[in-house]
Amino acid sequence: MYNFSGYSSMKVAIIGAGIAGLTAARELAKRGINVQVFEKSRGVGGRLANKRLEWGNIDIGAQYFTARDARFQQQVDQWQQEGIVARWQFNPYSLTASGLTTLPDSTPRYVGTPKMNSLAHALARDIDVEFKTRIVALERTRDGWVLSTADGLTVQERYDWVVLSLPAEQSKALLTGTAIENQIPEYVHEPCWALALATLGDVPAEIQGVFGDEVVSWLSRLSSRPQRPIQKKDSHQKGSDTYDDLWMLHFSSDWSTIHTKESEVNVTQAGFEWLSRALEKHIDKPLQVVQDFKHYWLYARLKNGKAMSSVIADCSTGIAVIGAWSAGGRVEGAYLSALNFVDYFFE
Ligand code: FAD
Ligand code: NAD
Repeated sequence: MYNFSGYSSMKVAIIGAGIAGLTAARELAKRGINVQVFEKSRGVGGRLANKRLEWGNIDIGAQYFTARDARFQQQVDQWQQEGIVARWQFNPYSLTASGLTTLPDSTPRYVGTPKMNSLAHALARDIDVEFKTRIVALERTRDGWVLSTADGLTVQERYDWVVLSLPAEQSKALLTGTAIENQIPEYVHEPCWALALATLGDVPAEIQGVFGDEVVSWLSRLSSRPQRPIQKKDSHQKGSDTYDDLWMLHFSSDWSTIHTKESEVNVTQAGFEWLSRALEKHIDKPLQVVQDFKHYWLYARLKNGKAMSSVIADCSTGIAVIGAWSAGGRVEGAYLSALNFVDYFFE
């Protein structure tokens, strides 16, 4: 544990600009620590990803989040006041053998506005993020941590601490030879196919979110969520088509494990058949798919849905591992894993 004096000369490298990494960065920066974030992709947010397509902006990762912890709720309230978060008010349906059923449900569910990764953009304000920089190796020298990047370069700066905020599997690969390598479990996540479908046809407005079955575990009506107007192509565009709704299907872990990226399965067809079946008692005419987009997430749900650990760190060498997987596998967990680490070591 440290106290506040001496923080201004401390340098911390954070690997990953998802909610966990950015929350850690913000909290450390608040304490006067020099923080540098390294992110392999071109933007912030990680699994709160939003894909910009010609026919719409689509949240392809987390669809909504809940807040059960008071510290996260406080942050969510503040984001709501700033217009970064809105409550998504709907009664979820469940798909059963007899069709869609619903029960009154008072769980507050939230979305980032206008995109899920708006939260990450808010956290990243005033934080130095080096994009398109994949860290592939770490070495502790007498002068501090040395980081190597995928393009064969060594980051010039030496760091007192390095914080990994990646899915456990990716963190473990970077931790070979460190004091905490053995504390990271091996197989933590299960995969998830995400499929977006733009459809034509009338669907009752109250169907906004559905807890599914062994094929598709969750269905979002993306076009029904707050501040997400439907994007329609201009009629003069080549191959133009408009659509009434935009859906996001998240296939189950089992289905996504069997039907990998390499398999021949037609995910769009499977998803459309599932959607048609799920909605069949609620629509007069069959839906028509006019656009689709799919993405395979290798690291999605936690196996057995378990929270894996709390703070994993070695104070003597200055290395820590955080991330949603270590605190429940959800957006809230990502935030709390960072807060727990910073509060413990940098009170
Ligand atoms: P990430 O968001 O994964 O951040 C890690 C970052 O590290 C990424 O930006 C990545 O690009 C970067 N990175 C990786 N390796 C390197 C490297 N070597 N060098 C540099 N950068 C690197 N949660 C909910 O609460 N509600 C939901 O509805 C929900 N739905 C989900 C649906 C899907 C399909 C998926 C995949 C997840 C969902 N989740 C949901 C879970 C939630 O999205 C994650 O738990 C959370 O966003 C993870 O945050 P994180 O910061 O721990 O990790
Ligand atoms: P939540 O409280 O809405 O849901 C938690 C779980 O409770 C759900 O997964 C569902 O099984 C069940 N549930 C809740 N309300 C229900 C209802 N009315 N009818 C039937 N079942 C109901 O949300 P949370 O705990 O914040 O979790 C967020 C969401 O993130 C969940 O839907 C979870 O499955 C999802 N998630 C998905 C992935 C992925 O890879 N697709 C990864 C992580 C989390």
